[in-house]
Amino acid sequence: MKYIIILGDGMADEPVELLGNLTPLQYASTPTMDLLARKGNTGLLHTIPEGMHPGSEVANLSVLGYDPVMVLEGRGALEAASMDIDILPGEMVMRCNLICIKDGKIKNHSAGHISTGEAEILISYLNEKLPPNPLKGEWAQRIEHVAAPAPPSGGWGVGFFPGVSYRHILKLKGGNKHLDCTPPHDVPGTEFRKVLIKAEIPEAQETADYLNDLIIRSQTLLENHPVNLKRKAEGKDPANSIWPWSPGYKPQMKPLSETYPIQSGAVISAVDLIKGIGTYAGLKNMDVPGATGLYDTNYEGKAQAAIKALRETDFVYVHVEASDEAGHEGDVQLKVKTIENLDKRLLKPILEAIETGDEPVTIALLPDHPTPCRLKTHTNSPVPFVIYKPGEMPDEVTKYDEFSVEKGKYGLLRGNEFIRAFFEDEK
Ligand SMILES: [Zn+2]
Repeated sequence: MKYIIILGDGMADEPVELLGNLTPLQYASTPTMDLLARKGNTGLLHTIPEGMHPGSEVANLSVLGYDPVMVLEGRGALEAASMDIDILPGEMVMRCNLICIKDGKIKNHSAGHISTGEAEILISYLNEKLPPNPLKGEWAQRIEHVAAPAPPSGGWGVGFFPGVSYRHILKLKGGNKHLDCTPPHDVPGTEFRKVLIKAEIPEAQETADYLNDLIIRSQTLLENHPVNLKRKAEGKDPANSIWPWSPGYKPQMKPLSETYPIQSGAVISAVDLIKGIGTYAGLKNMDVPGATGLYDTNYEGKAQAAIKALRETDFVYVHVEASDEAGHEGDVQLKVKTIENLDKRLLKPILEAIETGDEPVTIALLPDHPTPCRLKTHTNSPVPFVIYKPGEMPDEVTKYDEFSVEKGKYGLLRGNEFIRAFFEDEK
């Protein structure tokens, strides 16, 4: 048996007046999803543990059977994995934005969506001027050049790793992750000094002081860097501060192959968070040209990559971001379109390939969380799922949407119950 999960990010929604009080999943024309519902068994899944923020990282961890309360280590750690940055014992990683500050206030979280090329120059300048990258082992020699606070025993080491546009990684040797950090996209217009990093426990105070000092010193270094002088001359926002947030250590995740009946697997996604989760789950990242994470994503390319991956591995996790984007934009028609695209341009070719292949394949389809157009953000309501195992008796559900699956065989599942049911051998 082989296995494939197709995840439509944020696909679930609420009844929408504009659609005659149907949800986008109910309204959209989805013959392949409904075929899957007729042949398979359905249910609802709680993907967000009580009290947790309904983020995609939390929800996708749950879908894959990990307990987010135990393994979630912040965005930096997941993104680092997708960028092939190793995190060693004793190291802490953070997402580090390049942001724009004007008159002491955060103007935006993206430095005006700075280009990757410009950002790379600034990040490498910071690596040169701020304390060196611990991977180069230079810390001990250069420690005298570093301003207060003094490093704790064992020594700090710091390194910036360039990513895409404004999104980078900061890695520290040592450091306490119990920090209250503010995501910069949440606080445009706020005085940056009011949202500097705070320690959640006394032991983390030293780390908070150190990081805040790094932020201030980055501002002095970056303000008049030639890249920023040029950006200002062109009327663009300068990238005049770093902003580290979402700290964590290396996630303690066992590969899926240790728990479930698979030897190998692959993940197909345009989103770094999902690629990172896949990496820690022991899945190989399959890059698809033109997979953008937006509604113009390369569905056909993803379908072909999934079909190829199914031939080469035992398990494939295909993540499509488009519906979530439409939900965040509150665009109902666009959301319907993304669902129809997923049905026709991704699910259908995958199902057709599976039918003509020689090995049986268990298939599941679900979102990670709802992203209702009305709210333009994620909620923690349970999501509809369908699992089709060749040869298994189907339940009475014949349509795939938020309400029809309430009558499904699986009922309401929580946490790892979905993935256990998915991999369970019925015989
Ligand atoms: Zn999501």
